[in-house]
Amino acid sequence: MDIMTDMMKSVTNAVCPKCDARWFNGQLYWSNGKEGCPHDLAGLVCNDYGDDKCINPCKGSTSGQTWELRRNYVKH
Ligand SMILES: [Zn+2]
Repeated sequence: MDIMTDMMKSVTNAVCPKCDARWFNGQLYWSNGKEGCPHDLAGLVCNDYGDDKCINPCKGSTSGQTWELRRNYVKH
């Protein structure tokens, strides 16, 4: 029972060690708790800063937002 629950969690609930975004029941939330789109996350964070540790399934996607302000914010 416990093992089953842990398996479910690993699929739908996860935290990216790289960008601190989190998935809960399949929905992406930013580190500040706001709902987000993994494509935006990829364009804003993961594509530039993610590495092999990044768990964003949409890493590499360019269909999301990529705004310079956010990029600077993340960098500093
Ligand atoms: Zn990431």
